[in-house]
Amino acid sequence: MKKRIAIFGSTGSIGTQALDVITAHPELFEVEILTAHSNDELLIQQALQHQPNAVVIVDEKKYQTVKNALAGTDVKVFTGEKSLEEVAAFDTYDMMLAAIVGFAGLSPTLQAVSNKKAVALANKETLVVAGDLVMSKAVEHKSPMLPVDSEHSAIFQCLIGEHRNPIEKIILTASGGPFRGKKPNFLLNVKRDHALQHPNWSMGAKITIDSATLMNKGLEMIEAKWLFNLRPDQIQVVIHPQSIIHSMVQFEDGSIKAQMGLPDMKLPIQYALGFPHRLANDFPRYDFKKVNTLTFEEPDLRTFRNLALAMDALQKGGNLPCVLNAANEIAVWAFLRNRIGFLDMTDVIEKTMQHVTHIEKPTLDEYFETDAEARSYAASLIRL
Ligand code: NDP
Ligand code: MG
Repeated sequence: MKKRIAIFGSTGSIGTQALDVITAHPELFEVEILTAHSNDELLIQQALQHQPNAVVIVDEKKYQTVKNALAGTDVKVFTGEKSLEEVAAFDTYDMMLAAIVGFAGLSPTLQAVSNKKAVALANKETLVVAGDLVMSKAVEHKSPMLPVDSEHSAIFQCLIGEHRNPIEKIILTASGGPFRGKKPNFLLNVKRDHALQHPNWSMGAKITIDSATLMNKGLEMIEAKWLFNLRPDQIQVVIHPQSIIHSMVQFEDGSIKAQMGLPDMKLPIQYALGFPHRLANDFPRYDFKKVNTLTFEEPDLRTFRNLALAMDALQKGGNLPCVLNAANEIAVWAFLRNRIGFLDMTDVIEKTMQHVTHIEKPTLDEYFETDAEARSYAASLIRL
């Protein structure tokens, strides 16, 4: 029996790499659903190649083009934001790869969980915004959550066979991004194109900026809290510029397990899709003779204040991580369009976190309201 995969966000960096993994293992996987926001050309090409049951093009202006291009096939075409949830409720797939970027990934992922489907989770924002609700639903519906984020995949792999052994702490590694070692006077003048050049990973624009500001590591701390049921003080961040150790777990005897390899997102993607099996591949291997120095540093929280803000949101909990995420999405959007500077992003997030009323235990509706309020306040600060 082949595993039927629904790729939400198939035209993105994670989505296209997942399709490469699936193409390399036709005996194991087939594509059931593909979704894109507005990249009609790539979605059509992917649909013609993989012949899924259904595709979603969220942007309604692109619907007719996709419909016409797939007229000679059996592929069903849906459009509009709501259709993401509708197809996530289908019974015809086995696993959702949640690879939409940002808050938009929350509703379809929740739907997949309610639909008792396994989820390979790349979309970390889902857990940052509403990790409590998503994880309790996953437990209720017995939906496995398989991390795709490389750090969380590493931790997940370190925990195999350790279910009786409590975690003392986890150590999330971070490359430090393109501006590691830089100070605020340098960051003041940083431009979008420079920030988009990540030293070790090639990724979508939003997460690349998040990596440059270290917000990505903050989001990952919150993601880890929910995935592995940890207290904030059990989550440590270490800068490891070579990105060979993808993260570590320390147990109560002081023993530390690490998962290592060359930085390549196809590895955690195929681990999540193929779990519990490791799939053979011919990707390049890490050679201890070539990269023979692994180094570690403390993160510079005074310069990269986004990480400090995320730690604050992690500590205080409630709707604060949702506020942080929404303000960050707006700030990154504006920075990518040269509307604000690199350090302005932090100010927007901090002011928005101070502005929105704290809710200790939000309902799903309250998370949506918080997201909307934080976005509109952050946008007003930038005069968007
Ligand atoms: P990309 O920007 O490359 O791709 C995003 C995908 O989501 C595209 O298919 C895009 O469609 C779709 N999309 C964007 N906005 C919406 C929306 N409002 N509604 C529906 N679909 C939308 O992102 P990445 O692949 O880099 O990242 C995806 C997720 O995975 C993020 O949450 C990221 O943090 C996480 N992640 C990514 C890693 C990476 O290496 N890239 C590593 C670890 C985690 P379209 O192309 O049509 O715009
Ligand atoms: Mg990561």
